[in-house]
Amino acid sequence: MRDLRHLYYLENLLQENNNELVRKAREEGRRCVGTVCYQIPEVLLNLPGIFSVRLRAPRTGSMEMGTYYMTSLTCEYCRALLERGLEGGYRFIDCLMEPASCSQMADCTENLEKLDLLGPGFFVQHVDTPMKDDLNGIEHMIKMCRVRVLDRLHEAFGIDVSDEAIKKAVAVHNEVCDLITEIGNYRKDLRPRITGYEFAVLCLATYCCPKDLLLPILRETAQELRTREPDEKSPWRVRVAVAGAEIDDPDFIKLIEDTGAYVAVDRYCFGSFPGRSRIELSDNEDILTQICRKYVTECQCPRFMNTSKVAGRKEYIDSLAREYSCDGIILQQINFCNFWGYERAGGMHVLTHDYSWPVLSLDRPYVVGVSGQIRTRVQAFIERVELKKLGGND
Ligand code: SF4
Ligand code: SF4
Repeated sequence: MRDLRHLYYLENLLQENNNELVRKAREEGRRCVGTVCYQIPEVLLNLPGIFSVRLRAPRTGSMEMGTYYMTSLTCEYCRALLERGLEGGYRFIDCLMEPASCSQMADCTENLEKLDLLGPGFFVQHVDTPMKDDLNGIEHMIKMCRVRVLDRLHEAFGIDVSDEAIKKAVAVHNEVCDLITEIGNYRKDLRPRITGYEFAVLCLATYCCPKDLLLPILRETAQELRTREPDEKSPWRVRVAVAGAEIDDPDFIKLIEDTGAYVAVDRYCFGSFPGRSRIELSDNEDILTQICRKYVTECQCPRFMNTSKVAGRKEYIDSLAREYSCDGIILQQINFCNFWGYERAGGMHVLTHDYSWPVLSLDRPYVVGVSGQIRTRVQAFIERVELKKLGGND
């Protein structure tokens, strides 16, 4: 297939947190809100006058200092963020919205704050998120978003948090979601016109750039894809779903595809399911309630512990994998992630035995791109899936 026109530009953009589009928005006078978790409704962090950037640590090498402060028994994503903070990599953000959902992330952001690694006037806002998607959980979320997100942004930066302002942010969010959905749907084709890697780059960019500034690129890419011809013969041997803990490095998807498996669908935080689904608003109910309900009910984080959520997470992965004609599922977590540690173990069992999927259960480093060990494990999994497709023993 011919290269996508904007792919190289986006790949370069994702090499930095403070990328060209982020700098442009800041030059326009907008405030930058750092974010580290799916749970705080992203749309509330993209009101007129502010934009969100999902913090990452691209090109991470050593995590020595992050490990010194957080020990070697903590999640590598958190350690990599702290390391990048110690290098001065987050001084461009104006505040950080951090859900008190993950204690390791709370430690990381506390270190960023206490070690004075962020810009002048900067603040960290902790937002307590629920553990159940019942009425209490939704009401708690509404209160948190009102007091700790909207009121705080208004007090700190004078941001307009009215319904009209929220509707404007929802309109931009929805256009991004529609374009990502249109592009992502091509992955259902058995001769797909987009690679899983290309899709991962496009989707990740929507979390890491001001959305309005990215939209022209997304629109042009969607247009380009409408007439893009797929390769005559598919270069992949099998199709897989990738699910689990957050992935913010498209090179992981590239590694899987280079090994022979097409990544047909993504079910991880900062992927497209459920992060890039439209927000439908009605005029009959308070807007914040509608947004919070959507985020709480759709959230696939293992922190939600009520039975329907626990079972629903496996059902969701199963239904996506079937919808996208997958042959197997890669269920992965970052080393030392507590939530996904137990979710991966349970998910592996349920998806294998109750849903009959071949599953690769992967405990991985934060930086995966060149890992020989991960490549070998993916290769072995592909062979197992191929054997099953050919009717051999699994
Ligand atoms: S897995 Fe849970 S805590 Fe981690 S980013 Fe996703 S929603 Fe947040
Ligand atoms: S990967 Fe796990 S431990 Fe790390 S920040 Fe996300 S939810 Fe927390």
